[in-house]
Amino acid sequence: MDTFDVCVIGSGPGGYVAAIRAAQLGLNVAIIEKDKTLGGTCLNVGCIPSKALLSLSEYYYFAKTKFAENGLLVENLRFDLDKLMKKKDQVVHKLVKGVDFLMKKNGIEVFHGIGSLVDPQTVVIAEENGKEHRIKAKNIILATGSAPASLSFLPSYNDQIVDSTSALQFSSVPRSMAVIGAGAVGLELGSVWSRLGSKVYVIELLPRICPLMDHSVSSTLETFLRNQGIEFFLNTKIISATSNTNEVLLELVSGSKTYSLSVEKVLVAVGRIPYTHGLNLQQIGISTTKKGSVEVNAWWQTNFAHIYAIGDLIEGPMLAHRAQLEGIAVAEIIAGLRSPQLNYALIPSIIYTSPEAGGIGFTEEELQAAKRDYKKGVSKFSFNGRALAGDVGEGFVKILVDAKSDKILGIHGVGPVISELISMSTPLFLRKVSGVDFVSLPLAHPTLSEVLREAALDAYKRSIHS
Ligand code: FAD
Repeated sequence: MDTFDVCVIGSGPGGYVAAIRAAQLGLNVAIIEKDKTLGGTCLNVGCIPSKALLSLSEYYYFAKTKFAENGLLVENLRFDLDKLMKKKDQVVHKLVKGVDFLMKKNGIEVFHGIGSLVDPQTVVIAEENGKEHRIKAKNIILATGSAPASLSFLPSYNDQIVDSTSALQFSSVPRSMAVIGAGAVGLELGSVWSRLGSKVYVIELLPRICPLMDHSVSSTLETFLRNQGIEFFLNTKIISATSNTNEVLLELVSGSKTYSLSVEKVLVAVGRIPYTHGLNLQQIGISTTKKGSVEVNAWWQTNFAHIYAIGDLIEGPMLAHRAQLEGIAVAEIIAGLRSPQLNYALIPSIIYTSPEAGGIGFTEEELQAAKRDYKKGVSKFSFNGRALAGDVGEGFVKILVDAKSDKILGIHGVGPVISELISMSTPLFLRKVSGVDFVSLPLAHPTLSEVLREAALDAYKRSIHS
């Protein structure tokens, strides 16, 4: 039986990145993937295909709604859904092939099949053709990710009631679609189909969309999406769903009012649950939480010190960049390096709608609840030359600074390329750059990033352009 220093089960952004880092550090690594392609949810049915469809549908929507008023005349603007889907599939294909290449380049042994623990040191791989392969591992990293959550009272998934994976591959634009859940996945896929012509209704149990985001950001995003034609039913519960030949009839309740809504498709986007199927955790005695996540300590060790778990499989924000960071940290811990603890407060969270929305650090509501004394600066994209030049001058950036220490506590915003602005702000948090330092950042002009500096200036009542 082959013995490896590290066996990674699951090849999503957590697993494949952990495998590469472990191999870079001289460890002998195997990775097991049950699906035909590597890359996990993120590359195959998550981040990447959704962003491909978001980008393509955004180009179309921008051309449709903004070209004429800017003097760009396109006659008979149309799209070919088949080609659009092919483009998305090509992007996915290129990236998953890239992961194959990286496995080879780093000398990582790839096994395709379902990986199960036989005992704490042995993993069996059940291949699709019925064959089994056993390997021994000194360390095991569980990175089996998550699967879409379902609602028990809905009829099971079919052609009409779908999860995010199916909503990435419709063969025609639905006339109408109800999205259950106003989180990132629901709003992103709702936006894609709305831009392509579907009448989209978003149904959310809570009183606001993206409840974990800074309130001013989520409420502004809601207004933008409403203006794009998406209808929201907030504070609303679905009590029944009946599938007929051409439609699904939903019964909704909000306070004392009841509504019925008839739609062609229903996208269930109520979150994801950890995927432990087939791992054999119970028999081995690996502890899980009530929600089914694998329990880990601060070093991602399960109750077996040499078995680690990372990514969507453990508690915390289900995000690819967080899974990657954990993968790198665990590989370094196994190799005996002192990997720094992750600061989960500094994991950015983005919704890739148009405009994008997101943030990093504390929200204003969190600071108020904690009774922290803070300064706030806000700058609008409508005062930013680059945004106006590209006709994307909507939204704002908000910066929150500790009133005593001047340390930046949070940056939140809704507007063009918020994903890039927030991402590139993370080093400023890590280096503990103060709000005052931020004011003097030498940023190129004209850039969208200047909104960040203007927001910082505003926190010190020194705003130049607003
Ligand atoms: P996964 O990516 O889920 O990978 C787990 C892998 O393990 C899978 O390939 C699975 O087949 C395999 N596996 C499971 N069990 C076994 C077994 N027993 N044996 C062998 N293999 C097994 N996150 C972001 O940060 N940004 C985004 O923009 C974003 N967009 C998203 C859009 C959508 C539509 C969805 C659904 C998700 C999105 N996410 C996004 C979330 C992101 O995809 C996940 O957080 C991320 O993929 C988690 O990585 P992971 O490595 O933990 O698990």
